Amino acid sequence: MTVRTRFAPSPTGYLHIGGVRTALFNWLFARRHGGQFILRIDDTDAERNVDEALEPILSGLKWLGIDWDEGPGVGGPHAPYFQSQRAAGHRAAAERLLAAGHAYRDFARPEELDEERKAAQAAGKPFLYSRRFAAFDDAAAAKWAAEGRQSVVRLKMPREGALVIDDAVRGRVEFAWEREQDHVIQRADGSCLYHLASVVDDHDLAITHVIRAEEHLSNTPRQAFIAMSLGYALPAYAHLPLVAEPGSRTKLSKRKLAQYLKNADFKQISEHGTKIAERIGLAPEADTFNPVIVDFYREVGYLPWAIDNYLALLGWSYDDKTEFFSRDELIQHFTLERINSSPASFDPKKLWAVQDHYMGERSTDEKLALMLPFLVKAKLVAEPPPAEAVATVRQVIEASGDRLKVAGDILGYADFFLVDEPPMDEAAVKQRLAKPGVRPLLEAFAAEVTTVEPFETPALEAALKRVVEAAGVKTGDLVHAVRVAVTGKTVGPGLYDCLAILGREQSLARLARALPLCG
Ligand code: GLU
Repeated sequence: MTVRTRFAPSPTGYLHIGGVRTALFNWLFARRHGGQFILRIDDTDAERNVDEALEPILSGLKWLGIDWDEGPGVGGPHAPYFQSQRAAGHRAAAERLLAAGHAYRDFARPEELDEERKAAQAAGKPFLYSRRFAAFDDAAAAKWAAEGRQSVVRLKMPREGALVIDDAVRGRVEFAWEREQDHVIQRADGSCLYHLASVVDDHDLAITHVIRAEEHLSNTPRQAFIAMSLGYALPAYAHLPLVAEPGSRTKLSKRKLAQYLKNADFKQISEHGTKIAERIGLAPEADTFNPVIVDFYREVGYLPWAIDNYLALLGWSYDDKTEFFSRDELIQHFTLERINSSPASFDPKKLWAVQDHYMGERSTDEKLALMLPFLVKAKLVAEPPPAEAVATVRQVIEASGDRLKVAGDILGYADFFLVDEPPMDEAAVKQRLAKPGVRPLLEAFAAEVTTVEPFETPALEAALKRVVEAAGVKTGDLVHAVRVAVTGKTVGPGLYDCLAILGREQSLARLARALPLCG
């Protein structure tokens, strides 16, 4: 049997971190078994423009390397892959369920159902519809219709016994039928509801494994009933643990960002990203700029594999200790049996650490390719990038070492090399330059800079040491002052590297420009 899994998002306009985890597990399982991973778009209830709302989902998955074998843009033998275009199959299935007596037309009015619901509540019993307006034959249907009633199609759910499924994550799960309603599968206007559509599509797309979020576990009995009533073999089920809020067991939600920002780690990650976004002209209040959504990480310059690797460990583990996997290793090791059933809390700090690890493995050339686009977007480097700017950025990347954690960090480390007169940070000037005695020190250092040979890191360091020793001050005092003088701020690559990259002329010009600001 060929394994066929699917990810079935609704076109919501964004790709949620939890959704990626679901997509990733489906993808890994299909790849592990040499099967197919299908992308189906559950757009039956879509209110917005589907293309627009789908774009971030498709581009997010592509960016993450989660490629689909069948689906939008790819096609496939079971096309179409948009649920709304498969409506004829859903209606035909509703007809079959009616014909076989597994469903009925119900002519009850909403208020009549409400009465029953209230009576059950008053009696302290679960509500089970009396089926008193159910038409099991044409004559009954005609009679109710003549009263001006409209009908919906409901499942005639079993009321005794139980459904038992063997969930790949949860093991044996039992659902008592008496707790199930006669769910509606088709509305009065003939349109079919999601659960029917989903079961029919899974069958028609030959899905063998339904791997999805835990919140769908409660949908399983009605879906299994539909499938069995249509004579389908049930797929294997695997209900994944919740992707929970940081440090909690509650589902991670896009809407609760303000609450998550009370968590120091989350706040730090979010603010760091916001700073980068502002510099590349993104409105940080944009709906998708939110660390619960994949676009955030893409805009800020995370590595896609860092996200995949981190999310793979949200609810799954190989041996409880291995943290880093290549794509091939993850595919090779992935099994449903090693998925844990308890909620997995999303930890932005841990994701940051995984990102740090992978960025550290990138070569200078790879970092250059990742980082240059950020400088172009921020208009610090022209498009196409001139060779001189590229050479400078390369030097900055080399000098910055592991201080560049995400690609967008290059903005803060390279900006002052790429403009002639970088802005001076007021607080830094006050703290490091506007103090008595700084000016003669900078002047003495400028004199050394005029003559030092070669104009390279070790010689520059020795030059600064000479000034420090002659003046009897602390090395740090001069280092900090020179840094602010030539870069305008307190953060950047090592000072001697900065001077070497700037060159003698620029370094002297900047030292001279800073003198009037000194105490
Ligand atoms: N369209 C459903 C969702 O967005 C998919 C449910 C399923 O995987 O069965 O959650």
